[in-house]
Amino acid sequence: MDSNNNILVTGGAGYIGSHTCKALAQAGFTPVSYDNLVYGHRWAVRWGPLEEGDIGDRARLDAVLERYRPAAVMHFAAYAYVGESVLDPGKYYRNNVAGTLTLLEAMRDHGVGHVVFSSTCATYGEPERVPIDEDHPQRPINPYGASKQMIERMLGDFAAAHGLGWIALRYFNAAGADPNSEIGEQHDPETHLIPLALDVAASARPSITIYGDDYETPDGTCIRDYIHVSDLADAHVLALRSLQKGAASAAYNLGNGQGFSVQEVIALARQITGHEIPVVRGPRRAGDPPRLVADASRARQALAWEPRHASLQAILESAWGWHRQRQGRSSLPRHDWATSKEQLPHA
Ligand code: UDP
Repeated sequence: MDSNNNILVTGGAGYIGSHTCKALAQAGFTPVSYDNLVYGHRWAVRWGPLEEGDIGDRARLDAVLERYRPAAVMHFAAYAYVGESVLDPGKYYRNNVAGTLTLLEAMRDHGVGHVVFSSTCATYGEPERVPIDEDHPQRPINPYGASKQMIERMLGDFAAAHGLGWIALRYFNAAGADPNSEIGEQHDPETHLIPLALDVAASARPSITIYGDDYETPDGTCIRDYIHVSDLADAHVLALRSLQKGAASAAYNLGNGQGFSVQEVIALARQITGHEIPVVRGPRRAGDPPRLVADASRARQALAWEPRHASLQAILESAWGWHRQRQGRSSLPRHDWATSKEQLPHA
């Protein structure tokens, strides 16, 4: 099993990781999810095996790398709550930074030479200019963003010392769900605008709070660049292929290049769901820049990446499709990959 199509996907049971597993399987790879299931969901692992484990557990990583001999790693596993990272920075530096160091050393020792890394626009901090391109200074303003920036630095150092090939993808606001509603977003606790607004539309919450309406933006609410999770997944597959063809290591922004305000998102959610979404006006949330919009032209050029679900309408419709389909169910049935070989991706 030396040269094979196995890709180790850390965090493969999470939101973006699971959508990328689907895209990998459709592209002929076998995604092997490695997840500690702290925030990930067993039901989200549907396109390859699940290996439970922590990225900080070197012995467990050794066993899984030995068993599957993956051609590359896609690294999503991380804690990603900005507010929590401010209150408990040690948790973020230990898991995200130290955990990734353990992973990179294990990759080096097992001869896995390529990694696609889940980075974030939070590495830029308060933008000096918008849209933000990759040359914008990286000055993260919270431990979450700092942890991701440190990992980017480690990737560069491992590349220089050990020949690691890496691509870091800096996402803007991941949103939406698999257009076939096979998987979607489910965080606990949920903190994100779109799933919260849809919860309100579905009467699962009474109202949504708008965090600040006195920003220097046309309607006073924050502007974000929402990017469909399946478009992020496509970019990961393209990044992997380009690394395998010998492309240089690099960091790329992933966004649509178009910003929408909190009010615009809620207004469109009302239209799509046909439900009233009552809002409460609250104070600003600490650490929220007024406007974050990507210049993703580098990814479009270098990776030939073209978002397929770029409109906010497509993003919200897919999120609503998933939301309705999981309503009334506390969890989805577990997909038993081991006994359903017909689900194996076709190479
Ligand atoms: N937001 C809001 N109310 C909420 C959740 C989010 O007004 O209940 C705003 C938030 O301040 C930000 C935007 O919606 O301007 C997107 O926030 P989200 O948490 O979805 O993503 P983030 O930008 O933090 O990655």
